[in-house]
Amino acid sequence: MSAESMDKLVALCKRRGFIFQSNEIYGGLQGSYDFGPLGVELKNNLKKSWWKSMVYERDDIEGIDSSILTSPIVLKYSGHEDTFTDPLVDCKSCGERFRADQVPDYCKKEDLTEPRHFNLMFKTNVGPIEDGDSFAYLRPETAQSIFTNFKNVIDSTPHSLPFGIAQMGKAFRNEITPRNFIFRVREFEQMELEFFVKPGEDEKWHKEWTDLRLKWWENQGVSKESIELYHVPSEELAHYSKATVDIMYKFPHGLEELEGIANRTDFDLGSHSREQSELNLTAKVDVNTHSNAKLAIQDTKTGDWFVPYVIEPSAGVERGFLAILNEAYNVEKLKDGKERTVLRLKPHLAPIKAAVIPLKRNNKDLVERAKDIKNELQSLALGRVLLENSGNIGKSYRKHDEIGTPMCITVDFQSLEDGTVTIRDRDTMKQERLEKKSISDYFKNALNN
Ligand code: ATP
Repeated sequence: MSAESMDKLVALCKRRGFIFQSNEIYGGLQGSYDFGPLGVELKNNLKKSWWKSMVYERDDIEGIDSSILTSPIVLKYSGHEDTFTDPLVDCKSCGERFRADQVPDYCKKEDLTEPRHFNLMFKTNVGPIEDGDSFAYLRPETAQSIFTNFKNVIDSTPHSLPFGIAQMGKAFRNEITPRNFIFRVREFEQMELEFFVKPGEDEKWHKEWTDLRLKWWENQGVSKESIELYHVPSEELAHYSKATVDIMYKFPHGLEELEGIANRTDFDLGSHSREQSELNLTAKVDVNTHSNAKLAIQDTKTGDWFVPYVIEPSAGVERGFLAILNEAYNVEKLKDGKERTVLRLKPHLAPIKAAVIPLKRNNKDLVERAKDIKNELQSLALGRVLLENSGNIGKSYRKHDEIGTPMCITVDFQSLEDGTVTIRDRDTMKQERLEKKSISDYFKNALNN
């Protein structure tokens, strides 16, 4: 099941503290959102899961974390200064501006101006002098600094092809029409891999990465049925791309891109390299007169230099968050005729891993025992464990169903006598009595599955 509308998700996010409108008390800043106490946990868990699958579980990928401020020279040679634009139209009737492919039905075609190119990059002043020359861009993607660090990483690690560099972090785009909650925003996070391969092996690796990424999304709880692959037709391809496959997800507002997986050929390394004329580049690149690095690899047998091709799986954290939330959202009819909302999040993504609930709020002994259990489980470092001291068990269960906590652990008077506790499972709502010594193992097993 999934949410019947975006409004349901927006309401849940606000009510429970996942996501708030940025600067809300001053009327809000359009296209920006803040992650609240539960949102930051889910978002971090999602990023951790990506990093684990990319960097820790493989031996051919390294991670980096580079600066957001980016020199204009980088974005000149990458092509962003000239081509990172969207077509902008004005509606003479309602006075609003739109991206040309996103004009709402209420605007008539004859009221629209001819499309103009609008660059999506944010510029900011650098240093104390505002003379217009000393500026930097807020990076519009994390990818470019992976390319500019290619030689640094190759020189400081033992890798040969194929190998990859992964990065996650903020990206900024001055979207003309941010919309659909956190789907299209001006400040967001990306999880990007640049996987460098020998030319000729690129098509095989493109297919391999498409399969791996689909499997990963499934492991995050995004069902196959909600996904479609879009093989971007040649006339729609970005200038650097030989082939692109978009992973499209059925968001509450429609089928749209969750992640793009592109075969970027030798365009990026070729664009940022010196001595381009000696590199037999296949991509069409601008002549680079600034770079001081040869971004190429020497064939150990022939001694020839060549530029690796690159496969890029590029996913948005916010879009992933939204898809996962939507997939997990369930409203269930209970036997007594009532309803419950339950987020069936995979345990590794759940913001709270377990809630420990003393049966009575003001009973010192119960609270102390609950605190001990909380501390014991927290020390396992599997994520946040919460002491839920509200004193209302029914309400606590409902809350933790709604925020996706996999288990609630209740400490009652019997617990004080024999150390046992009641564990309630989020999905089945079944309760079982566990001995004191089994609590940690139960918790570990539940989270590692
Ligand atoms: P779109 O066509 O939807 O504008 P895009 O093709 O420009 O997206 P890419 O440049 O391929 O997007 O960026 C890679 C990923 O970054 C996207 O798949 C998406 O998940 C995420 N992303 C891009 N722009 C935004 C945005 N404005 N807000 C949130 N996520 C974004």
